[in-house]
Amino acid sequence: MKQLPSDTVRLLSSSQVITSVVNVLKELMENSLDAGALSIDVKLENYGLDRIEVRDNGQGIKAADTPVMAMRHFTSKISSHEDLQHLETYGFRGEALGSICAVAEVAVTTKTAEDDISTQYTLNFKGEIVSQKPSHLGQGTTVSVLKLFKNLPVRRQYYSSTKKCKEELKKVQDLLMAYAIMKPDLRLSLVHNKVVVWQKAKVADHRSALLATLGPSAAANLLPCHHHQEQPEISLDGFFPKPGADYSSTSSSSPDKTFIFVNNRPVHHKDIMKLLRQHYAAQYPDDAARNRYPTLMLKVSVSPSSVDVNLTPDKTQVLLHDKEAVLTAVEALLVSLYGYRPSCDPSAEKQ
Ligand code: ADP
Ligand code: MG
Repeated sequence: MKQLPSDTVRLLSSSQVITSVVNVLKELMENSLDAGALSIDVKLENYGLDRIEVRDNGQGIKAADTPVMAMRHFTSKISSHEDLQHLETYGFRGEALGSICAVAEVAVTTKTAEDDISTQYTLNFKGEIVSQKPSHLGQGTTVSVLKLFKNLPVRRQYYSSTKKCKEELKKVQDLLMAYAIMKPDLRLSLVHNKVVVWQKAKVADHRSALLATLGPSAAANLLPCHHHQEQPEISLDGFFPKPGADYSSTSSSSPDKTFIFVNNRPVHHKDIMKLLRQHYAAQYPDDAARNRYPTLMLKVSVSPSSVDVNLTPDKTQVLLHDKEAVLTAVEALLVSLYGYRPSCDPSAEKQ
């Protein structure tokens, strides 16, 4: 038996962390948000396979930190496992930049408030700086990822089909919409092959963010709702379909407009989703509506110590310590809004 060469180990583990264009984008967006950015511009070329660029106006990276910014397991966000108990950032593993370097060509341009000018750093396969030069960008950070999966030909080819490219672009748009809804004061734009695909200005609140993101007719169908309880402390803030709203026009055949957040993180939560779908299916018993997903947003806020976000590399799945209490709270919110308890309806069991 032989130990694998370190470059092979790096490529194998990085290609498990960085799996798609949307996955790269999620990591870069979350780094920008962790840096306090209020403006983020995303540019893609050839659906992100040739270039993914994320420019933010966040706090930038201190010159002293740049040599280790893309070293694996270097992070400015936590210092020990205990810090996960009060995690307030999206990132914590110090894995993304280093992993992206192993599967693409990466350059980082950054400027903090203390720097006179920005500097562009070119990184190698191992995340080491191989060259640097002065640049003209303002405060913040721009990460450019070129030739994604250049050393993983099967994966690059898989993502190159027209169908896959379009699917990925749609996923990118859905992801940006989720952040846009969650963070109203964020300005966002998405440009693909120099054409503006989507953009959203800074707005004052969630309602305006929903309007800017989903459009006037979908937003007009939504009502704000709120639920708070102690022990365990759970806050729910949502925008749910108005009672009696035409459910079939405010729903979708895929879950892409059911925006669920746990502590500001966009997540796929099977049980919360199931409960919501059960409820709406029972309320609107026609078959077309039954198999659809409601357009809504639900923000679940719980103590950071009661969530495990370290389940999957992309952090889109979370374990809730008080899952049953959260589900009961969501049900209470639905009952307060619609006066209806879905679990009483035997037909709901079919879902
Ligand atoms: P993590 O986000 O888990 O810390 P990353 O590999 O994504 O790991 O990033 C490594 C470090 O680089 C971060 O901890 C942060 O200090 C810095 N960094 C990365 N992107 C940005 C950015 N857009 N703005 C400011 N700092 C950044
Ligand atoms: Mg990160």
